[in-house]
Amino acid sequence: MVMKKRKMVVTSALPYANGDIHIGHLVEYVQTDFWVRFQKMRGHACLYVCADDTHGTPVMVRARAEGITPEELIARSYAQHTRDFADFEIRFDHYYSTNSEENRSFSNAIYQAMQKSGAVTTRSLPQLYCEHDNMFLPDRFVKGACPNCGAEDQYGDSCDACGQTYAAEELKSARCAICGKAPVTRDSEHLFFELEPFRGFLKAWIPEHAAPDVANKLLEWFNEPLRGWCISRDAPYFGFEIPGHPNKFFYVWVDAPIGYMASLQKWCSDHGESFDTWWQNPDAELYHFIGKDIVRFHCLFWPAMLHTADYKTPNQVFVHGFLTVNGEKMSKSKGTFIKARTYLDCLNPQDLRFYYACKLNGTTDDMDLNLGDFVNRVNSDLVGKITNLASRGAQMLHKSLGCLTGVMDPEGRALYDKAVGWSESIASHYEARDFSKVMVEVRELADQANQYFDSKAPWALVKSDPEAARSVMTSILNIFRVLAIYLQPILPSYAAKVAKLFKEHRYVWGDIAKTIENMPINAYEYLATRVEQAAVDKLIEASRTPDRPAPKPLPQPAPAKASEPPKVAAETVKETIDYDTFAKADLRVAKVLSAELVEGADKLLRLQLDIGEAKPRQVFAGIRKAYDPATLIGRHVVMVANLAPRKMRFGLSEGMILAAGNPDGALFLVSPDAGALPGATVK
Ligand SMILES: [Zn+2]
Ligand SMILES: [Zn+2]
Repeated sequence: MVMKKRKMVVTSALPYANGDIHIGHLVEYVQTDFWVRFQKMRGHACLYVCADDTHGTPVMVRARAEGITPEELIARSYAQHTRDFADFEIRFDHYYSTNSEENRSFSNAIYQAMQKSGAVTTRSLPQLYCEHDNMFLPDRFVKGACPNCGAEDQYGDSCDACGQTYAAEELKSARCAICGKAPVTRDSEHLFFELEPFRGFLKAWIPEHAAPDVANKLLEWFNEPLRGWCISRDAPYFGFEIPGHPNKFFYVWVDAPIGYMASLQKWCSDHGESFDTWWQNPDAELYHFIGKDIVRFHCLFWPAMLHTADYKTPNQVFVHGFLTVNGEKMSKSKGTFIKARTYLDCLNPQDLRFYYACKLNGTTDDMDLNLGDFVNRVNSDLVGKITNLASRGAQMLHKSLGCLTGVMDPEGRALYDKAVGWSESIASHYEARDFSKVMVEVRELADQANQYFDSKAPWALVKSDPEAARSVMTSILNIFRVLAIYLQPILPSYAAKVAKLFKEHRYVWGDIAKTIENMPINAYEYLATRVEQAAVDKLIEASRTPDRPAPKPLPQPAPAKASEPPKVAAETVKETIDYDTFAKADLRVAKVLSAELVEGADKLLRLQLDIGEAKPRQVFAGIRKAYDPATLIGRHVVMVANLAPRKMRFGLSEGMILAAGNPDGALFLVSPDAGALPGATVK
């Protein structure tokens, strides 16, 4: 069989940096991973790229609340997200961040092309403006009473009490969330990307690149003039400034999909390959996996943006539905809003991959995780039906027949041939992303293999005719091996253990044609274990726990690879002091108002610290080599407030801030958890 080697780039939607990965997100990453691993097994050149989506107001607001910079916040999320994905065996070729230079440069270039084509227009929009802080207020910087239900203290975009969404100007008794004063309405110029010039292009493009139900829904909008899309946001905004428009930033949805290109570009630079051979090459293929909530961005704005800038548009956008748990929307109070990390603390990730594969069928229908059904399917199908073939076959061969395979008997060989014969049918289900059909065929073959095994009664045969029993074991193990190869995209570490059992390496699809006969095999290692209801109960209980306060910000966020951090060897602790002696130190939470370099002192930074006093304190801190001053502004630190002032060459130092020092000299500022106010006592 000669197959043309394909070249493909595959993406999943970018998870937002202001939140944890949960099992709803995993529906997408897991299915993309199945598909990419399948393509790689078939010998195609296939790259899976993704990134954290980092820009926008929520990241900025959350970072402010925690007293850290947006960069620190997104570095922390990056470490958590990549660790969750790795533990669920989701293997990206490159996982990047939208806050990258590659992304800035693609965003600017695409924007300039959009502008050149005449599709960018400007319009004035009324916006809330704080005259005290001299800035336009993003929705999340305005608070007031909900125009719908009257609930107090709601943000300018939606109401937590009644769920209504509205424009910030509609809030009653609106006030600036920074200073508390009432904002005024001012006009602000905004940039719009007009879609009407792309009507003809999009009308033809959509049905060819999305499933019929998705396309039909989108095309309903074409009965009216297509509305322009506002692509700018006023400062303050965490994102990329728009070239030629100081204090205006690209709306996060402009640079988010461009992040696919930036991630691919980074992979190409790291591997000495050219971006164009992967993206612009007409023979290369490009696929996006997305949820049905973001179709508009991927099937209207995105192809129009790519088209104006002369970039290739995706070959196909694969749209999936949402996850429900026990037939309902995921719910925090019911304990079904399950974070990836909570799942990993309670259950085996391979079981969720297996269950999702049983349910995913490549359509936009919502998918239900029924927890009772989950326990049953893992226990009866993965453990009882499929894995049982290997455990019974290999263990008997090991115990009584010296771990040596013989040759298959005719009946066993016929079944093996049948399993191999289903290869192209199973491959076609993978290609169509109908993983549930893959599982149906694998289960069907496992059922037949179990029937064959039971009909031969090898547990009796091994005493009367050991060689006949060896033939049965050999057949069973060869059939099982084919099933494990079929399952490798779904259960990669499971398949790796199977390869080890047969003294082989990671499988490619063509390995199904090889047989294991007259060869020794390794001892059997557990491949899958039963799920206990108690573990599922524990998962629900752990997910029901109300959210803990935000974790303490990492002063210098760790890189993506998470491993057990080294510790400082215990040093001799200083002499004991009594409580009164300790209590003499007055420790306070201090907010950094400003931080600057000190001329003539290459170790020091000059800080102005707010501890709730009328005048800020000036402190010189020896942290210059560890911190960029700009990243410190707005941060909360801990200060010794009653240390005798010290006159220095550069001025008076009116206190000291606390930092941890590693033996290698690395410094880490001590910060309180989110919520502590400047001036609060530390004890
Ligand atoms: Zn409301
Ligand atoms: Zn204000």
